[in-house]
Amino acid sequence: MGSIIYHTECKQCEKIAVKDDYYKEDKETYNIYCPYCGYTYFQGLVFNEEIEINEWKVKEEMGCGVFQICKTDGTSTLTLLKTPITDKSLISCEADFHAPETNQSESYLIEYKEGKFTQFLGTAKPPYFEYSYQQYKKEKNLTAEDFWF
Ligand SMILES: [Zn+2]
Repeated sequence: MGSIIYHTECKQCEKIAVKDDYYKEDKETYNIYCPYCGYTYFQGLVFNEEIEINEWKVKEEMGCGVFQICKTDGTSTLTLLKTPITDKSLISCEADFHAPETNQSESYLIEYKEGKFTQFLGTAKPPYFEYSYQQYKKEKNLTAEDFWF
């Protein structure tokens, strides 16, 4: 079983989404996630334990933004938001953002709503934030090796 990771256009925000493509039992299955707006898509075989059979599943979820926390030890966590930011969730994000072990200069909370991005916390942005996927493709001087994974 092989896995190929490449870029694709995000269906929701048209920026650069990440597609992880692999074959399972001769079927193409894949995950897509967008590190800008939080959109996710999955299609593939999932084992149903009740009837002990692989079932074909498709799951698409719109995103409401992303929350990236980089720590001073170099580790980072990217959370894809599936619900809009509320006062309550913002308080929780602020606590993580202002924690002593957080590297604030590389962390951010960005909301995606009705086609617009709003930065709630931090000043950093995901790499290539200013590009749409089509612009990225056109300016081919950006290669996969330049990317963030
Ligand atoms: Zn997106």
